[in-house]
Amino acid sequence: MLYVMKFCLRLGIFLFSVLMYGQKTYLHCGTLLDVENGKMMKEKTLVISEDKIMAIENGFSTGGDTDTTIDLKDKVVLPGFIDMHVHIEEESSPTRYLERFTLNDVDVAFRSTVYAKRTLMAGFTTVRDLGGSGVNIALRKAIAKGYVPGPRIFTAGKAIATTGGHADPTNGMRKELMGDPGPKEGVVNSPEDARKAVRQRYKDGADVIKITATGGVLSVAKSGQNPQFTEAELVAIVETAKDYGMLTAAHAHGDEGMRRAIKAGIKTIEHGTLMKEPTMDLMIKHNTYLVPTISAGKTAAKMADIPGFLPPIVAKKAREIGPVSEKNFKKAYDKGVPIAFGTDAGVSPHGENGKEFGYMVAAGMPVLEALRSATITNAQLLGMGDSLGQLKEGFIADIVAVDENPMDNVATLNNVVFVMKDGKVYKE
Ligand SMILES: [Zn+2]
Repeated sequence: MLYVMKFCLRLGIFLFSVLMYGQKTYLHCGTLLDVENGKMMKEKTLVISEDKIMAIENGFSTGGDTDTTIDLKDKVVLPGFIDMHVHIEEESSPTRYLERFTLNDVDVAFRSTVYAKRTLMAGFTTVRDLGGSGVNIALRKAIAKGYVPGPRIFTAGKAIATTGGHADPTNGMRKELMGDPGPKEGVVNSPEDARKAVRQRYKDGADVIKITATGGVLSVAKSGQNPQFTEAELVAIVETAKDYGMLTAAHAHGDEGMRRAIKAGIKTIEHGTLMKEPTMDLMIKHNTYLVPTISAGKTAAKMADIPGFLPPIVAKKAREIGPVSEKNFKKAYDKGVPIAFGTDAGVSPHGENGKEFGYMVAAGMPVLEALRSATITNAQLLGMGDSLGQLKEGFIADIVAVDENPMDNVATLNNVVFVMKDGKVYKE
């Protein structure tokens, strides 16, 4: 009788705790890196309940019978990384241009799930997708619903350009196919068009606005750096995006185009390859962030050397612009331009996003600052500074682990061995 009563009592307590707190996960962290202050904290336990970090305890604690314990005692644990510039739908290949004529959206969609998974497994638990066909919006929803594994996505949908500009989807096509794309397709030629294009993206379900402020490397067009928007068009884009609470990003290689974009109030300059010093000062004044994408510059330069990989008009630009990005990033960083981590994966291979850390460090940025740019800074830019990008009580449980101390060996960040997103383990 006593045994039965004891059993019932224990069962009651058990059911009560499951109902109250749910199942918890206890992460035993040998070393926990606080990216905010750079402290390496030894022997900590992260207690995860559902998608949140519930507590950070000293030593290695365990929960009840229904709770899970994960041993990361010989690992260095960090917040999940955030990449501010990817193209999750595509990846560079010699058939990239042909694919515009051969692939349906469904083909692109299935393929994008592979890239999404690779990105997540590399420790990037959140990405900002800066332009594709619109499949990226559907992919964001599918990942959020748990249909496919992938990072949390903030997406621009289709990027906005001007006629013949870097993101005009019919560049280089023959006349019958070229047509005359407009704001709906992301091509604008007046402030009115610009407003419509932003509103259309909002309606399509995009989270952020991406424009191509100057020519680019991989488009089938002659200039990789000329300005491609008027100041009035840029102001119309930024004002409208603000009305809808959308973050703005401008692809820019040439100085004049980025100068205009910064003055109009664009929040992040992507690449920033040929930025001159007065424009760097302007970035600091306007608190505009540079997303350096050194990975893209390196990949483009490499592709240009492979015969037949790029059309000749593109290869020429890749040779000129590719190798410059690293040097100019260093200049901008030294001057105090705010930096946000971003790779342009899709140009570079998905899943190798972590290599960017090494490139940033090689160019002169300390490891801790590179890590901050990929966590705290990017979370703040995405409007999630209070819930993402740090390992703190109440924050979203996006957690990764590596084998070595990244301060001693930055390459370890390109070899993530444990990934948790929203409290769920994806790699162990
Ligand atoms: Zn890009």
